[in-house]
Amino acid sequence: MNITKSFTQLENFGHSHSAPAYFIKVNIPEEIAEVFAHAQKTGLKITARGAGRSYNDAALSGGGIVLDMRGMNAITRWDKSTGLITAQPGVTLEQVWQKVEPDGWWPPVVSGTMRTTLGGCLSANIHGKNNFKMGTIGEHVVEFTATLPTGAEVTCSPQKNADLFYSLISGLGMLGIFTSITLQMKRIHSGLVTVDALPVHNLHEHISALLDGAPHNDYIVGWMDTLNGGKNLGRGQIHAARYLHEGEDPDPQKTMKLENQVLPPYIFGLFPKSILYMFMRPFANNLGWWGVNTAKYIASLRTHTFRQPHAAFHFLLDYVPNWELSYGRGGLIQYQSFIPKETAESAWSEMLKLSFKSRLPSYLGVTKRHRPDKFLLTHAVDGFSLAMDFKVTDRNRVRLSAMLQEFDKIVLQAGGRFYFAKNSETTADTTLAFYGKETVAKFMKLKKRCDPHGLLESDLSKRIFG
Ligand SMILES: Cc1cc2nc3c(=O)[nH]c(=O)nc-3n(C[C@H](O)[C@H](O)[C@H](O)COP(=O)(O)OP(=O)(O)OC[C@H]3O[C@@H](n4cnc5c(N)ncnc54)[C@H](O)[C@@H]3O)c2cc1C
Repeated sequence: MNITKSFTQLENFGHSHSAPAYFIKVNIPEEIAEVFAHAQKTGLKITARGAGRSYNDAALSGGGIVLDMRGMNAITRWDKSTGLITAQPGVTLEQVWQKVEPDGWWPPVVSGTMRTTLGGCLSANIHGKNNFKMGTIGEHVVEFTATLPTGAEVTCSPQKNADLFYSLISGLGMLGIFTSITLQMKRIHSGLVTVDALPVHNLHEHISALLDGAPHNDYIVGWMDTLNGGKNLGRGQIHAARYLHEGEDPDPQKTMKLENQVLPPYIFGLFPKSILYMFMRPFANNLGWWGVNTAKYIASLRTHTFRQPHAAFHFLLDYVPNWELSYGRGGLIQYQSFIPKETAESAWSEMLKLSFKSRLPSYLGVTKRHRPDKFLLTHAVDGFSLAMDFKVTDRNRVRLSAMLQEFDKIVLQAGGRFYFAKNSETTADTTLAFYGKETVAKFMKLKKRCDPHGLLESDLSKRIFG
């Protein structure tokens, strides 16, 4: 196997990390086994990469082999009577919903972008705006197959090889490579959801609205103005959405058609959205984003209810392609903390105040309501999450890193958890403290069993497991 020609520089989604690697496309499981054999001979480490949509170093491996999984992108089975779909790991959520929605189904859990692959989604065990109700994507996996670094092919479900099922899902790609995934879709009776939009004026109201609104809705998500403090700290807008019941939509066949779902490529009918990020660049600074957040808050003061296509509701972040490039050369870092409901208000208050004091405000804040799950490397809690986007520059990189370490201390003290599809700074000590010795020992035991020569390793795994 000659891999030298494939040496290339890879980046994370936020363009704030980059690392050179042998980037090798695989199309069939046998090729994965071949790369494992090659790595064992050469001592190179391997990381799988789906769509590279992780905000951090999860899909990077400096000096190692990065497996490009996008070639394994076939939907191999779709049963519209049961809602069961089987697909290869490089299939994106976009492919999945476009396949199932015209037949009256929708993926039970989706990320804020539809560009992620199923392999990446299982490895991070993603959550959606309905985490409090539907749990993580792993809870809807009926079965998967994976190739282990030993060369073994395993099939796992909650009943079969359950220990591997609950650890490969959430396992950050460190135990094996998914090769086929079967998921249960959710029945829908319309291509639309009903959305309530309401303003919240401070942090206490924000958290109460998430807590009280969740039981009455299928989805709930908050936007937080993270640039205004004082009595306005934590203000923003809540979007709570519900599926339509059977019979509520007079023409479900029409609303579920793809042409009623796809996001338009033009703004105002003629301006291509693909270059919009360039016009956003001059505003990507503290003052510009303060203006954007303030204007958005004022515009959101009206409480109202409307109907929206599923794709438009879920994939707001796909509206402006390449929006992450508007952050400029240094890119962005996202920090998402998961805090129990009892301590969230004080922990977030402390974090937001620290960001103002450090003059490193977050430009975008998104909140969600969560519930715990039983996957080994779980990130969820009975509480809330707040995701914050920070612009990275040559001048602020060191200060930003130091501030995020302080955030980590606040999260730990509040009994919170970290999400390794996002956070870029969390250290091995912090990881040990939040997973606990027992969980880390269990994971390491499985690692030895699945990957005795330690072939699977990413920049993320080196950082958080030491
Ligand atoms: C705009 C945006 C919005 C997002 N919104 C959400 C959200 O709402 N909820 C949420 O939970 N996350 C969200 N994310 C994070 C995203 O869902 C995760 O980072 C996801 O893992 C990305 O999938 P990917 O295919 O790009 O995987 P990559 O980033 O390429 O890889 C992620 C991990 O999966 C592993 N991996 C990839 N393929 C395989 C495979 N076949 N077998 C084994 N391991 C594999 C990699 O090694 C790596 O550890 C968002 C990201 C973006 C950019």
